[in-house]
Amino acid sequence: MCDLMTDQSILRTRDLRFSYPNGVDALKKVTIDVQKGRKIVFLGPNGAGKSTLFLHFNGILRPKSGEVLFDGQPLRYDQRSLASLREKVAMVLQNPDDQIFSTTVEEDVAFGPMNLDLERKEVDRRIEESLYLVGMEDLRQRPTQQLSFGQRKRVCLAGALAMKPKVLIMDEPTAGLDSEMVHELIELSDELNHRGMTIIMSTHDIETAYEWADEAMVMIKGEMQFSGLPEELFTKHELIDRLRIVPPFPVRFNQHIHERTGRAEEPYPRNLAELTHKFFPQNGGNNGNDGAAHLRPDPSGGTLFIVDVEDPGLQRQVEMISGRSSEMHYRSGAYGAKARRLVREGKIDVHYPFHALENALLQASVGNDFLLYTDTSLLPLVGSELAKVERRVGLRTRVVFSAHAQGQPQAADVHRTNERVTPSALTGSPTGQVEGRGGV
Ligand code: ADP
Repeated sequence: MCDLMTDQSILRTRDLRFSYPNGVDALKKVTIDVQKGRKIVFLGPNGAGKSTLFLHFNGILRPKSGEVLFDGQPLRYDQRSLASLREKVAMVLQNPDDQIFSTTVEEDVAFGPMNLDLERKEVDRRIEESLYLVGMEDLRQRPTQQLSFGQRKRVCLAGALAMKPKVLIMDEPTAGLDSEMVHELIELSDELNHRGMTIIMSTHDIETAYEWADEAMVMIKGEMQFSGLPEELFTKHELIDRLRIVPPFPVRFNQHIHERTGRAEEPYPRNLAELTHKFFPQNGGNNGNDGAAHLRPDPSGGTLFIVDVEDPGLQRQVEMISGRSSEMHYRSGAYGAKARRLVREGKIDVHYPFHALENALLQASVGNDFLLYTDTSLLPLVGSELAKVERRVGLRTRVVFSAHAQGQPQAADVHRTNERVTPSALTGSPTGQVEGRGGV
């Protein structure tokens, strides 16, 4: 969730009704309120009306009755108003072939910004930046016909991002993507949301939705059935049965333990790190002298070492780390678009090119150190994710920054120690020292 979140509506609908020309009543008095800076997931069976509702958000469809409001103002449907709306509310359609019309990747991504009367230089900058965010910077000149399905989906997303919208709407963005791409998309969504973008998506990927969303909205047969916290949704057993979905694994596990042992269902873990910590907390029962102590978490927990990928001394750090990898006991991961780019370019080598943050928490909770490559702009996001896990299940993670990152005031909400990072802290070797900043 965005740090700057306010209690302000960005998109609302009031009693929205819509029928297709064939007489299908796709929306029946839909009233919703999307707050600025939220991550919203829409759930519901095929045909529930999710896509139809989304198409109302940027004025592609016009309601039969009721209204849509953006930033408190009812939508107007003249060309100028719609053009201005679509600069702020960008849509990624479910099927990329409904959205890609241009011959090359570059032309397709340029299409939206070109209609904004921007200077060519600014259009170029936006193409470059949005292709880089979706990991397609090397395919700028590629004919769109030669792209895989996943790449076409990325091009559509890049086209939406090139508008620099306030709200990004994605209709089933995870459908048809491989696991790595789903994780990349989710991390990118977090990054964009962290920068202030409101994100709305529909998906049938319940596990991902549960872990990701601030809020879930549920539609069945053109009607809203639920809007609230994802964990609250899964306490509504009758609705879950009607939705015909299997609850996500953390919910099922948590409920089962509750039924088995009577242990409170709250707090509701959202992911594996939270789940394992709830039932196997740090400092829990590692005092036994049963010979199995080495299998238990180190009671002091592991440390999350954060390496700033924009540090000019990065190359030296990477060389030092790889030169000592045999004597060091840590896992590593890349978090954020900049770090992922370095992985793509072969400049850093990590165990987890995606899903790094959860793996970092898991490793730290069993006493292992973790090296997280990220950029300083994402430190507040890392901090708020760690704080969220601590709030939910009490898992505290010790964080140590490279000297460069320590200088950033945004890092204030991350739990910090005053330690300077040295190789001895990283490797456990008392002798190693690296001088100067960035001495991870
Ligand atoms: P969802 O996105 O939840 O799968 P949709 O919004 O696509 O649901 O569909 C809602 C209802 O509208 C369904 O009954 C669907 O068959 C119907 N529908 C969707 N698109 C059209 C269309 N272009 N013409 C006629 N009916 C449509």
